[in-house]
Amino acid sequence: MKHDPNCIFCKIIQKEIPAAIIFEDDDVLAFMDISQVTKGHTLVIPKQHQKDIFELTTETAASLYQKVPLIAQALKDTFEPIGLNIVNNNGEAAGQTVFHYHMHLLPRYGKGDGFG
Ligand code: 5GP
Ligand code: ZN
Repeated sequence: MKHDPNCIFCKIIQKEIPAAIIFEDDDVLAFMDISQVTKGHTLVIPKQHQKDIFELTTETAASLYQKVPLIAQALKDTFEPIGLNIVNNNGEAAGQTVFHYHMHLLPRYGKGDGFG
């Protein structure tokens, strides 16, 4: 598994810094975003350090996305949103601040829930 010693998400994967983990297997980790835009805001990441969609391999993309419906369902059961956005920023110009590929899962609760 390729890790980057300077990457905050690689540190979370290696349990060097704590996070509220909601799903983990050999390839994928899902944990609560430290800054909750909406209740249950979750990040889903591959354990392989690949910085953005342009570095993401098809194998990593497949194993990652395969877990997303399960994680979304767990968020739905736990937080009871009425909708959910999936957001992925690639490159500084697109708003990416952590350069380890990640998807934001944003449970939605209607107008005034903090996003959009
Ligand atoms: P981006 O802006 O790159 O799409 O999203 C990066 C996200 O990572 C932000 O929403 C930010 O709140 C989150 N984040 C940054 N550092 C940490 C951290 O140490 N722990 C957790 N759980 N989330 C983090
Ligand atoms: Zn990383």
